Amino acid sequence: VKTLHQLGERTLICRLARLLPTRADVRAGIGHDVAVVAGDHTHDLLLKSDALIENLHFLSQTPPRQIGHKALARVLSDLAAAGGEPLWVLINLVAPHSENPKRLCAIYRGLASLARRHRIAVVGGDTTEGPTLELHVFAVGRAPHNTTLLRTGARASDVIFVTGTLGGSLRGKHLRFAPRLAEGHWLRAGRWATAAIDISDGLATDLAHILEMSGVGAEVQTEKLPIAAAVFQGLETEGPDFSKAWKSWARSSPRLGKNPVTFPKVRKQQAALAHALCDGEDFELLFTVPRRKAAALAKAWRKIFRTRLTPIGVITKQKPKLVWLANGQPLKFRGAGFEHFR
Ligand SMILES: [Mg+2]
Repeated sequence: VKTLHQLGERTLICRLARLLPTRADVRAGIGHDVAVVAGDHTHDLLLKSDALIENLHFLSQTPPRQIGHKALARVLSDLAAAGGEPLWVLINLVAPHSENPKRLCAIYRGLASLARRHRIAVVGGDTTEGPTLELHVFAVGRAPHNTTLLRTGARASDVIFVTGTLGGSLRGKHLRFAPRLAEGHWLRAGRWATAAIDISDGLATDLAHILEMSGVGAEVQTEKLPIAAAVFQGLETEGPDFSKAWKSWARSSPRLGKNPVTFPKVRKQQAALAHALCDGEDFELLFTVPRRKAAALAKAWRKIFRTRLTPIGVITKQKPKLVWLANGQPLKFRGAGFEHFR
């Protein structure tokens, strides 16, 4: 293996992690959505950093305020899934010498507006010249001792929930989304959830992370998935060449195309599903709840939040098997979500 493309993101992280030191006060380190370290006598500290890069996470024509919003919101989404309270942020700014200072100020206004909303202080960072505009955001938050929601706690028979809608984020949501901080905080404080993650790389990939880290399997009822309206709007303009995910699925599903009358309809539904599972950048919460608490959770949720909440399946014992069902029938689906270096 000579390149990162061949190695893949996960293998790279495993290899690098083996090289790096740790300490006794680290409660959750590499491999988790956020790092958890011992803080004071009441709280653990939550650490998270993320990079936002021009022409990768935003375009030169993206409204500057939305660039700043997204740079911070991505990091906050991870803290939200952990149930953490964000406190302080550092920003490393990389910019070419030709960059327009007015645009930078507008970017920082977008970031500041989101920070203010959550009473977060921006306390420093670094500025460096570089070939493209990059914002590296490092956030520190906190949660009471040993209460942080991680990928590791899912147990067989837990119900899997997802907030909001999935797919089609590139049509706008990825620049404007509100990190689910209130929801995550509530889930943690009420001890509702056993495991949680934010959906940044697509449901298929992020659910697999929970299963792997918890040592369990899952069955997802795909007909229940809350697919975003943007997905269907997108399908209208995408034409027959739906998506990479759809193509790999079409190849692996022998059930497609048997009935020429229903074929176009089935195809459209499954293309929509592929988007919901694989597009990524949904920044919704995916979490598991013990079966005996699931009904009470849904009821309590509706009283407090307007955010959509959908039960989409159950955790099973068969690790790390992920079964996608459509009206009780297993679907063959090998499409993966977003992975870097691929
Ligand atoms: Mg995440």
